[in-house]
Amino acid sequence: MLVCCIIKTQLEYIYILYTVYLPFNHKIRMSKSNKCPCLKYFIFLAGAFAIGFLIAWFSRGSLVENVEKNQTFYKGFQEKLVNNIVEMVEGKYIKKYLRTYAGKPHLAGTPQDKINAETLYKFWKGLGYETKIIPYKVLLSYPVGDPKESNLVEFAKSNGLWRSAIFEKKLGKAIYNYSEMVQPFNGFSGSGDVRGTLVYVNYGREEDFQYLKNKFNINFQGKIVIAKYGKIFRGDKAKTAQRWKAEGIILFTAPLDYAPESVGKPFPEGILMPSSGVQRGSLLLGGDQLTPDFAATNNTYSYRISEAEISDSIKIPVIPISYEDAQSLLEHETIDDATIKEKLPSDWKHGLKLKKIDTSIYFTYDNSFNLQRTVRVNVNVSKELRTTYNVHATIKGTTEEDRYVIVGNHRDAWTHGSIDPSSGTATMLEISRVISKVHRERGWRPRRSIIFCSWAAEEQGLIGSTEWVEQYGHILSNRAIAYINTDIAVQGTDTFRGRVSSSLIETVLLEATKAVKNPNKQEIKDGRNTVFDTWKKYYPCKQNPEKPYLIPLGSGSDFEPFVTRLGVTSVDLRYSFDPRKPLSSYPLYHTMYETIELVEKYYDPDYSYHASISKIMLYMALRLVDSDILPFEPILFSEQLGNSIKSFSKKAMNVASDVAKMPNKVKDSLDDLLRAADELKKRSKSFDSVLKSVDKTRHLNVRSINDRLMEIERHFIHPQGLPNRPRMRNLLLSPSVYNSYSATPLPGLYDTLFEIEKKQKTSWKKVHKQISLLSNAVREAAASLECTSNFMI
Ligand SMILES: [Zn+2]
Repeated sequence: MLVCCIIKTQLEYIYILYTVYLPFNHKIRMSKSNKCPCLKYFIFLAGAFAIGFLIAWFSRGSLVENVEKNQTFYKGFQEKLVNNIVEMVEGKYIKKYLRTYAGKPHLAGTPQDKINAETLYKFWKGLGYETKIIPYKVLLSYPVGDPKESNLVEFAKSNGLWRSAIFEKKLGKAIYNYSEMVQPFNGFSGSGDVRGTLVYVNYGREEDFQYLKNKFNINFQGKIVIAKYGKIFRGDKAKTAQRWKAEGIILFTAPLDYAPESVGKPFPEGILMPSSGVQRGSLLLGGDQLTPDFAATNNTYSYRISEAEISDSIKIPVIPISYEDAQSLLEHETIDDATIKEKLPSDWKHGLKLKKIDTSIYFTYDNSFNLQRTVRVNVNVSKELRTTYNVHATIKGTTEEDRYVIVGNHRDAWTHGSIDPSSGTATMLEISRVISKVHRERGWRPRRSIIFCSWAAEEQGLIGSTEWVEQYGHILSNRAIAYINTDIAVQGTDTFRGRVSSSLIETVLLEATKAVKNPNKQEIKDGRNTVFDTWKKYYPCKQNPEKPYLIPLGSGSDFEPFVTRLGVTSVDLRYSFDPRKPLSSYPLYHTMYETIELVEKYYDPDYSYHASISKIMLYMALRLVDSDILPFEPILFSEQLGNSIKSFSKKAMNVASDVAKMPNKVKDSLDDLLRAADELKKRSKSFDSVLKSVDKTRHLNVRSINDRLMEIERHFIHPQGLPNRPRMRNLLLSPSVYNSYSATPLPGLYDTLFEIEKKQKTSWKKVHKQISLLSNAVREAAASLECTSNFMI
C-alpha cells in the first residue's frame, strides 16, 4: 500500500515536471537542431524519477496519515465523527436561504416558481452536486375573472349588499405586493355562481352532517354550508358537502381554533390569526389529475386523460373567508321569528363574537334549519396546464452508489411561505451545504448515495413528488433505502414532533433527537438537555413512558407517494407547538402573513430551532448512508404490527358479537393472521442474531442483509390497492378515508369492518379478503428475512 502511494506521488510529480518542462524544451528544439532527443528524455525521466522517489520517501509520514484520515470516513458510521459534522450546521446560513426563497410569493406554475427552481439549481451546482431540473406539465388551479366580481360571498342586508373581502389587510412591517400574491381561494374548487340558505355545519365532517340530519332532519340540497377549518383536511370537507348535495361550501378559520385568547395575540402583535386572515389551500392530494399512475413529463405529445374523466373531482364551489367575514355571515340581524330550540354540542362553538345572535345555539325558523339568510357564492377558478419544476441534487455513494437515501422538501408556496415550506427548504439546503463542505474539504463521500429533492407544486396536490414516484417507481422501489421529509420545519418552538411510516426507523430517529442539543434554554435549565427529552415530555408514549409517541404518517405532504405507493420507509420532521394548546395548525398557515418578518420576529430570531431540524435530518441521513448494516429494527416493526393486528382482532370480535355474527371461516382466517404475526416476530428475532454476527468485510453478505431490511415495508404494497382506493396500496397504513391528514393503520381491515359496523351492506366477505391479503403480506415479510435458498416457509 505504502509503495503504491509513493509511486503514485512520484508519477504525479513527474507529470508536473514534464508539463512545466515540455514547452521550454519545445522552444529549444525549434531554435536549434537536436541530435538526440530520445536520450534527453531518458535522462530527464530518470532524474525526475530519482528526485520524485526521494521526495515521496521523506514525505511518507504525512501521506500515510492522509490515507488513514480518509479511510476513517469509509469505516462506516462513527458517532463522534458524525456529531462533529452535525455541529457544522449554522443558523446564519439557514437565515440566508430562508430570505432567498421566502423573499417573494412563489406559487407553483408562476414565473417566480421557475426563478426559484433555477436559483436552486445553480446553488447546488455550485456546491458540486450532480444536479437536475425535471419539468412536469401538470394541471394547476388559479382564481380567475374580475376580482371584484368573482371569488366572493355576498348577501342582501337591510342597508345594502354585503360582500366578503378580496384580500387580507396589510398588517405588520412586511411589504406586501398584492399584484404578486394570489388572492385567497381553494385550489381545484368547482366554479359556479350559486345561491342558497346558509347552514352552519361545524367542521364539515361526516359526523357533523350526520348529526344535523339525524337530530333535525336537515336536507342539504339547495343549501350553502359554512364550516370551520380544522380537524380534517379541507378537501374532505368539500367532498362531504358534495356528497350531502350542498350547493357550495364556505370555509373559515374560527377564532377558537386559530386565535384563542389563552394562547396569545393576533398578528402583528403575536402569531395568532388576525380577523382578516384567510387560509388558502388545495382541495386535492395525489399528484397530477390528468396523468393518474403515470408521470406528467413535459411532453406536448404525452397522453393525458380529459378533465371529464377525472375521478372524485370537486364540482361544487368552495371558498375560504376570514373570521370577520364569517362573523358578518353568521350574525343575524333579527331573531324575532326564530325560536331557540336546542343548544348545539359544545364542540360546535367557534368563538366568533356575534353581537346579535349566538349561532352556537340552534335556531329553527318555520321548522327548517337555517338562519333564514340566502347567500350567494361565486367562485371562478381555472384548471390549466402549466409547467412546474422538481430540482434534484445527488452525491454519489462510494461502495453502494445504487442505494439512495432521499431527503426532500417542497419549494412552492401559496404566498411568501416563510413557514410552509421555506422553513423546510432552508433547513434542507443547510444540510446540503454541510455535506458538500465535508466532501470538498475532507474528501468524504457517503457509502450510499444521497439524493436531495426540491419538490414542485406540493401545495396544489403533492404533484412533484407523486410524478417523480410515478416516473421512477420501480427504480425507487428497488433502491431507495428511506425517505426523509420536512415540509414545515418550524411551526412552533415548544417541541419536536416526529411522524413515521413504521417503527422500523424508530431507533434512528430517537438517536438523532438524543444527539441534538435542546434549542430551548428554559428546557435545558429544567434538565431536558436534548430535543428528545422535550419531545418525550410533550408526546409521551402510553405503553412506554421512556420514549415519545411516534405519530403514523397520513398524508398532506410529499412522503405520501413514497409510503402509499412504494412502501419506502419514511419520516417527517418538524418543530411544533405544545399539542395541548387549542390550535388547529399554526394559526397563520397559508395566509399572506407568512413572511420573513413573522419568522424572525416571533418564531426563531436566531434560527436555532431551524438548525435543530437540520441537525436531526443530517444525523439521520448520515446514519442511513454510512452504516454498514442499515439501522432498521425488524423486531420493533414486528411487535408494532403484532399489536395492531391483536387490537383489530379484538375490535372485530366485538363487532361480531354486537352487530353481525362473524362466519367461521372469517374467524379462522383471523386466527391465521395472528399466527402469521407471531411467525414474523419469531423470524425477526432470529434475523436479529444473523445481523449481529454478519461478517462486515464480506460485501455481498452485507448487501443481502441490507436489502432484506430495506424491503420489509415493501411487502405490504398490494397492486390492487385498498377497497375503493386503488392508488392507496399500502396494507400497513394509509390516509384515513374521512381525514386525509391522519393515518389509519391496517386500513383494509378497518375500512371493511367499518362497513359492517355501520350496517351498510353487511358483508364479512370483504373483511375476509383483506385479512387474507394482509396474512399473505405478513408471511412474505417473515419469509423475506430468511436467506434465498430457504425462503418458502
Ligand atoms: Zn407545505
